[in-house]
Amino acid sequence: MAQRILLVFLIDALGHRLVRETGAFSFLQGAEAPVASVCGYSSACIPSLLTGRRPREHGHWAMYLCDSERSVFRPYRGLIRVLASWLGRHFLTRRLLTRLLRRRIRGYFSLYEIPSDLLTRLDLCEKADIFAPGAFPGIETPFDAAQRLGVPYRAWHWNTGEEERRRRFEEALREGRERMLFFYSPLLDAVMHAEGTRGEGARRCLAQIEAWIASMLALARARGLEARLLVCGDHGMADVTGTHEILPELEALPLRAPEDFLYFVDSTMVRVWYRRPGAREMVEALLRAKPFGRLIDGEERRRLGIDFPDGRYGETIFLMNAGEILAPSFMGRTAPQAMHGYHPEDPDSDTVVLTSFDRPPIGSIRDIGPLLVREIEALAGEGR
Ligand SMILES: [Zn+2]
Repeated sequence: MAQRILLVFLIDALGHRLVRETGAFSFLQGAEAPVASVCGYSSACIPSLLTGRRPREHGHWAMYLCDSERSVFRPYRGLIRVLASWLGRHFLTRRLLTRLLRRRIRGYFSLYEIPSDLLTRLDLCEKADIFAPGAFPGIETPFDAAQRLGVPYRAWHWNTGEEERRRRFEEALREGRERMLFFYSPLLDAVMHAEGTRGEGARRCLAQIEAWIASMLALARARGLEARLLVCGDHGMADVTGTHEILPELEALPLRAPEDFLYFVDSTMVRVWYRRPGAREMVEALLRAKPFGRLIDGEERRRLGIDFPDGRYGETIFLMNAGEILAPSFMGRTAPQAMHGYHPEDPDSDTVVLTSFDRPPIGSIRDIGPLLVREIEALAGEGR
């Protein structure tokens, strides 16, 4: 019997609508079924996909949370103060800090355009490499399962460029030492942010990814392997239809940051923490009056699995309506052409799971990790 190999391709922002509209991956099953994502950006979606759990359970949600005690930036507060306040060199501060942090942080992060003086009050949620075993203590990902069962595997992600990732994947497939190859690509996500979901760039990029994945399946088969192939996304993407400002209004409130309150303005979210009575009422009154988004209350947070009891990701959470963007924000000065991180019930948030093999229906990205674990268990059983 042919030896099995599990080939997994996690394509960031591979939306259900995009796959349906382009007819991509017609050689795989599952394109017709939308797969629900979770509330949040990839920093929440990928952990939920890998662990099968909600953000509240695995602990990862937004890339940044409020925690000055455990802040990874704490050791650099002197440097930040000197560079940012004295010289006003925010760009330089960010470059230097990124280089220093990369030595300690194995997870994905970017300092974007977060005001430097805010950093020491924030912490990063993804300190460990989530594509390696042990990233979520007490919760098993496919990488933990592979380690537990002695199934040799390799994973490539954001720490190498797309071409090198593809080259190394192909090399590994030719060499045939591993029984699972896991490929993560942020390329399509980046192209759609820059050009929109319906542009020529997105279609070309998707067609290239599809052709390469098809060629990897053909290569595996040519090598006499029984390839079990799975392609999925972590969330979809919505084209941007409106841009709004919130920073000037937050700055104009009769409150001092960071003494009275602290806010983090993402492109589709505003998250606020309070240190003075009455501050919350003021901020929420401002946000409640905005027609382009809404406050996510306790009941809805529970339903979405983002009900962190200590409020570390935001005591107030304001979420933009699909297609609406805050710009400037801490993510950048200008609005992207397309964005994600909207409500998971918006159809554009849906992604897909496409496979070369029959499998039970999949309704949520949280079904993907457990499915991969079962595949790995089957591989291990076969090897015995
Ligand atoms: Zn993105």
